[in-house]
Amino acid sequence: MKQGKCIVFSAPSGSGKTTLAKHLLAQDIFKLMFSISATTRPPRGNEQHGKDYYFLTEEEFKTKINKNAFAEYEEVYPGMFYGTLTSELERIWAAGKNVLFDIDVVGGLNIKKLYPENTLAIFINPPNLETLEARLRHRGTESDEKVAMRLAKAETEMERAAAFDHIVLNDHLETAKKEVYDLAANFLNA
Ligand code: ADP
Ligand code: 5GP
Repeated sequence: MKQGKCIVFSAPSGSGKTTLAKHLLAQDIFKLMFSISATTRPPRGNEQHGKDYYFLTEEEFKTKINKNAFAEYEEVYPGMFYGTLTSELERIWAAGKNVLFDIDVVGGLNIKKLYPENTLAIFINPPNLETLEARLRHRGTESDEKVAMRLAKAETEMERAAAFDHIVLNDHLETAKKEVYDLAANFLNA
């Protein structure tokens, strides 16, 4: 099977990865498909199994680890596992598409290590931590405790930004959308 290309979006939670990823997924010329990750966290809002995530029990997730089914996985938050199934990448490549990832910083750099030539790794930076917190609270999907957990991780994540191919500042949304569009068009020759 011919491997397609990979575009990775990583950033602290609340930076706007999902918003920017959706913008690229909507562009037919990029032939991008979202890599649906597996996770042990419960669904939030309208999230659907097989669309947003493959929601697994911890036992199911660990069985897949033992079977070597993951291209990469991480315990992103204590007791909450997230990972990319190799079968998911094969599904997308078999369809002749390129893969778009929304994964954490460590996972993003692991994908870059696995497929160095074929991966564009983009780090989305929030303007500052106050704005990040405001966006997370405004999104309204997390309890106060979960917001705190996500903010606590943000600073260490931002320290790894330099290891990515590009850093995009998501302050003014339309500017950030244009920037990721141009990066993707250049990388995918589209
Ligand atoms: P992530 O996927 O990184 O957790 P989201 O894309 O869910 O982040 O964005 C977090 C919240 O911030 C959402 O409510 C989203 O609508 C909002 N948001 C995203 N980008 C911007 C921006 N440039 N300015 C203001 N709000 C934004
Ligand atoms: P959320 O719970 O907000 O959907 O995601 C929490 C964090 O886990 C985000 O940083 C998200 O990018 C990351 N994540 C989602 N899927 C994966 C994955 O497959 N692998 C890794 N390493 N991180 C992931």
